[in-house]
Amino acid sequence: MQSAESNQQSAIEVSAESRKQKAESRIIGLTGGIGSGKTTVAKIIEEMGFPVYNSDFWAKELVNVDDDLKFRIKKLLGENAYDEAGNYNRKWVSEQVFEDAELLKNLNSIIHPAVKLHFENWVSEHNAEFVFKETALLFELKLNETCHKSILVTADDNLRMKRVMDRDGKTYREVESIMEKQMPEKDKIKLADYVIYNNTDLEELEQQTEIALQKLMND
Ligand code: ATP
Repeated sequence: MQSAESNQQSAIEVSAESRKQKAESRIIGLTGGIGSGKTTVAKIIEEMGFPVYNSDFWAKELVNVDDDLKFRIKKLLGENAYDEAGNYNRKWVSEQVFEDAELLKNLNSIIHPAVKLHFENWVSEHNAEFVFKETALLFELKLNETCHKSILVTADDNLRMKRVMDRDGKTYREVESIMEKQMPEKDKIKLADYVIYNNTDLEELEQQTEIALQKLMND
């Protein structure tokens, strides 16, 4: 039977070891313009057994499930930010911030830290050597500076256009106006550590993803 002292010692060792492992999680930013295929790549990476955090999903989800965040949003925008059932009133909020840059900035300064904290907790829970963070605006918001490495998924503009029109039923002009707000692909390619070109089929995309991950592991 182990003594209380040796039990305590092993608890300290375990906790030191888990702290060490947590500190070593390498955060890999995964990004790409609209219709580039980043969500498809995220699924491939997940199937390979790596944890993937979808920042855009959680930014939308947390406004409904994080009580502290809800409280702060109501304080900033008033009770109308939530409907009677307590759901985030996205349309109303968009209308309020549409032409009020200061209000939008204040809203983002509440939402972004909440997502950051949620992500940090998620990383600790997963305690993996590599974790991936899927974010559409990784470079635009300079979030790559908080990642160890970045992976860009890219494809020719006309192909991205076609894929999004097919997927979402959006018009050419609607997709174009989203593309215009995003950083041009050529600039993102310069910033990314690894680039996955998604100009052919899904089989090729899987191979490209595996190659990029191999390079990442070997660097
Ligand atoms: P968004 O920024 O709009 O969310 P995304 O970068 O996450 O887009 P995906 O949703 O992964 O892009 O891909 C866009 C569409 O193109 C999807 O319908 C997807 O199934 C399809 N797609 C992606 N890559 C390929 C490919 N190599 N071959 C065929 N279809 C593809």
